[in-house]
Amino acid sequence: LFCRPCSFFFAAQRLDQLPPPALPEIAFCGRSNVGKSSLINALTGQKSLARVSNTPGRTKQLNFFDLGGRLTLVDMPGYGYAQASKSVKEDWQGLMFDFLRGRPTLRRIILLLDARVETKASDRAAMKLLTDAAVTFQIVLTKSDDVKPDRLRSRQEEAASLTRQYTAAHPLIVTTSSETGDGLPLLKAEIAALAEA
Ligand code: GDP
Repeated sequence: LFCRPCSFFFAAQRLDQLPPPALPEIAFCGRSNVGKSSLINALTGQKSLARVSNTPGRTKQLNFFDLGGRLTLVDMPGYGYAQASKSVKEDWQGLMFDFLRGRPTLRRIILLLDARVETKASDRAAMKLLTDAAVTFQIVLTKSDDVKPDRLRSRQEEAASLTRQYTAAHPLIVTTSSETGDGLPLLKAEIAALAEA
């Protein structure tokens, strides 16, 4: 699946702008700066597909990418940006929740956690939102190359305990690095299996 070309085809700022549901969809979400754009680029092998930027909280839209005519990848806006105003945060939650609830083609959310830092309240809020929306999410740790092994293990344990707390969580945690390629084959296999299902 990931040998096929991937291309951006749609951006939606509001729910009435969504493309009609067609192919199975996998959506990526996480705190601003978690490494989401880098991961999408690394998975697809396309360096500048999703924007990599140091301006967190800039993209407030859902970006849709076609992967080889078989699967749609959805890049969700980053959350937890400290400087975002309350109304921006509420807009984000509303858009996310409505999208999650009403999307019959959505197979799974990939929820990214930065392996270097503690899980934040906004991450837990997102996991609760996903559980309330009854959408399965899978925790993927990012930036594994930038963490010492002991610390990485404790972050993996923390993630495992989160999967037991939230009923919508998939039990398998994937640890990745967009820099070294760590975990990417496993994540690709998981995603490819969802395209077949
Ligand atoms: P986004 O805001 O979630 O899309 O995050 P970006 O992909 O723009 O990445 C945010 C920052 O983290 C950038 O400075 C990236 O270079 C860095 N980054 C992303 N992935 C990795 C990784 O796997 N390892 C390391 N060490 N840094 C990463």
